[in-house]
This record gives sequence, C-alpha cells and structure tokens, in this order.
Amino acid sequence: MTEPSRIPTFDELLKLFQVFPFDLRKAYFTSLCSQSGLFYVLIRTGDNKKLAIIGEKEALLKDPFIGKIFDHTPSLKLCDLSPENTLCLMELFPFTKPVSLLNYPATIGAGDRLGLATPGHIRAVRKFKARPVFAQQSVRENGRTKRNFKEVIADAAWSVFQENYCNGYGADGDHLKSLDEVRLALDAGVSMITLDLSEKLNFEALSMPNEAVERRFREEVDPGDAKVLLHLLLDKEFTFRGASGELSIRFSEEEVKKNVLLFHQAIDFSEEVYQLIMKRTGRKNLIDFEISVDEIPFPTPPETHLFLMIVLRHRGVRIESLAPRFIGEFQKGIDYRGEVQAFRKQFYHHTLIAQHYGNYKLSIHSGSDKFSIFPHVGEIAGGKVHLKTAGTSWLEAVRLIALKAPSLFKEMVRTALSAFKEASKLYHVTTDLSRVPKPENLDDQRLSELLDEENSRQLLHITYGFLLNSPSRGAFFKTLIEHEEDYWSLLEHHIEKHLNLLGVERGDHLCQV
Ligand code: ZN
Repeated sequence: MTEPSRIPTFDELLKLFQVFPFDLRKAYFTSLCSQSGLFYVLIRTGDNKKLAIIGEKEALLKDPFIGKIFDHTPSLKLCDLSPENTLCLMELFPFTKPVSLLNYPATIGAGDRLGLATPGHIRAVRKFKARPVFAQQSVRENGRTKRNFKEVIADAAWSVFQENYCNGYGADGDHLKSLDEVRLALDAGVSMITLDLSEKLNFEALSMPNEAVERRFREEVDPGDAKVLLHLLLDKEFTFRGASGELSIRFSEEEVKKNVLLFHQAIDFSEEVYQLIMKRTGRKNLIDFEISVDEIPFPTPPETHLFLMIVLRHRGVRIESLAPRFIGEFQKGIDYRGEVQAFRKQFYHHTLIAQHYGNYKLSIHSGSDKFSIFPHVGEIAGGKVHLKTAGTSWLEAVRLIALKAPSLFKEMVRTALSAFKEASKLYHVTTDLSRVPKPENLDDQRLSELLDEENSRQLLHITYGFLLNSPSRGAFFKTLIEHEEDYWSLLEHHIEKHLNLLGVERGDHLCQV
C-alpha cells in the first residue's frame, strides 16, 4: 500500500469536483478516506448516491470498483452503489461488513425499512456503549417494502461508510420461519438469524384434556426421546437465585407432556437451523442465533421458557438471545400497556433463567417507544439486553413529512384511513379511529401532533406497507431525501431517548480501525 497523500479539505474537494461534467448535489464529507493513494468519498448526483474515487488514472484502473473514469489531473471514477460495488466496499473497508455482536452486552436493532434511516441511527448509537443491528428486516417487511436481504444489507453498509462508523454492526434476518428463508438470509450475508417458532408450535396441546395429551404423547413422541425428556424434567426442583429473590419451578408429568407436544416440532426445527448455521460457519461464532416466540397467542410464562431452554440445551443448541412474549401489551409504535410491576417481576424471572442457561440476552421485540418499561429492563438485565425497533423510525419519517410537506402528509393520512381495515387484520392494535384528529382541521404547523397521539400513531404505523405502495411513494422519498439531515436529526434524538431510558452507558464513540 502506498502512503496516501494529504486528505483534501471540504472546500478543496468541492473545487476538485467542479471540473467534472456531472451535477454534484452533495458530498458526504465524513465518508472521505484514503486507501492505496486514492481518495474515496460518497456523493449525491441527481437522485442517486455514488462513490467518487479520486487519484491517478493508473491507480483508478487498478482499483476494483466498477465505474466510469473521467480523465483529468487528478482523475475521477464515479461508481454506482451496485451489488458488485457493495462487495468491493466490504472487501476494501471491512468495517462495512456485518459482524456478530456476540461479545457486546447492550445491542439495539434499528430496522431501516426505507434504506434511508441508518445515518440517523448511527448518530445516536455512536454516543453509547451499545452495538447496533442496522440491517434488520423480516421477510414480511421485505415483501411490503419490495426489498430483499441483500439490498437491506447494502443500504446499511453504504450508510456505515457514509458516516465512517467503524465499531461494527449486525445484520438480522428477522422472524425467519423456514429453512429456505434462513438460507436466503445467510446467502445475503446476515450476521444474525432470528428464528420464529410460531408456525411450528402446536397450541392445541395447551387445551387438550388429559387423556388426549397421554394419547398424543404416545403417538407423536419417540419412546427413547420421551424417556430422556421425562428424565430431564420430572422430579426436579429448578431453583434460580438473584438479587431480587428466588424462582423455583417444578414440572408435573402433565405439564412436561403438554410442553413436549407444544414444542417438539419447533425444537427439531431449531436444531436443524442451528446445525445449518454451524455447517455454514465452520462452527465459528459468526452468526448470532436468536429464537423468538413473541408472536404467539399467549405470554410466555417462565416455566415455558425454562422448558424450551432445557430441551434446546440438551440438543446442543446454543442461542445468543431469546424473545419471549412478555406479559402486557407490546403494541406497535406506542408505549407499553399493562402493569409495570407485573412486567418487572416476570422479566426478572426470565432474566434468571437466561443467566443460568447460557447467559443469553432477552430480546425485546416491538421495542419501539416502550419508554415506561425501559428503565426496568435496563436495571434488571444489568445492561445485557437486545432491543428491536423498526416502526418508530418509519414514524419519524412520517413526522418529517408532516413538518416539511403538509399536503403530502394529509394525502398519506387519507390513504392510511382507507387502508386501516385491511391493515389491522395483521396486527393486534386498539386504534380508535374516532380519536384520530382530522388533519384538515389542524393548522399545517400542528400536523406533526398526529405523530404524538397514540391512535393516529398506530394508524400511520400499521399502514406503512400500503403507504409505501401508494401513488404518494415518489413524493414521500423525494421529500425525505431533500430533508435527509432533518430526518437523521429526528432519528438521532428518538433513538437516543430509547438508549438513555434503557440506561446504556455513554461513551465508546471513537472508531478504532
Ligand atoms: Zn418479534
């Protein structure tokens, strides 16, 4: 590698660009860096971001990025943020590639459904001793936003480059429900798999009469397995001790059998996926494995959590995080609803089990805006927790529209209202449309109040798929891009509020490359 020449100042850089025949809208100066005698900087020309590489023509020809070279002294290569160039970026600047966050206690998933939010997330996260999962999308989200895992990771990687965030970030294939979905996410380069067991659970087992449980257990469970399971779980007192008291669990034979019937397909599936991950990674800890049961019809009692972990551990499956369904309501984009003290107690019990069975993290899904419980979560988990948010960053984008483009915002509210019935089939929400303020009755300056009112907040949250596929899509993205710095400021402030209330320590913002 040759010694890089002095990095140009912002003014020098702009002057340099003036000689070239393209429309420079913006240079992302934070991204400016040098490597092998070339300067790399992210810029915006027209509606697109591009990578600009500056240096001698000879060196530009050798450089692996694919792009158009403009001859001059120095010369310039202008590159699209294409899939090929994303691979080059990860190769040349390894901090742009997703990594396992196994060794970091506090992690936050900040799903970016638009591919535009990550710089705002970075500006918040880099103030804390937390590590981020910037690329975090489920197959459902990808379907609604018409993206795929590769594109989601590429958007995060280029944002990480733009902001020169070198601390490492994760990419989560979220809520994966089949081996094919897991393969797809692994092929795209995720560093985290969240396996959703909800479709593999036999909920019927919970309401079966005793004889049916006995019969189904005999029919469905291999006698050898049955013996092992009963041996592992029966006639034992599982006792956990911690700073706030003790938890003691005993399983009756009926409880064991019901749990086996509930979980046995899910456990086989978890083992299968775990083995696939181990095979792909050569048993190195490159992929963080999370299991989620948060989208099931009932809260996960600590007994069920314990049962699942005993059996998974017996199968040799190691997880980095578990997402139970906690008591109370975790509705999208609004604060926790329920008894905070009851949540506190149950969260403590879940934490005791997690600490004992591999010291994995509890993962809080639908974690956007659950401000009233964050201080409890942070305190009880001792700062070791994974929080997943996504919808709240979408809502901040909608807030930006309310602030900058009133008539577009009103149009979006009308679209959301007409899509609400359809959208609400897919979510558990208690939105009362009669309480949604009529945007036409509000002054333009007060439109963003709709983002502070729970009913309109939920309305605009759950209809995101409809809004992104409505005729206002183009104007929505154009406005966001025009005011991207304002969008990032809103996000910075909002995600910072999450991390503050969780009690994550500040600091650790400097990149060490
Ligand atoms: Zn979830």
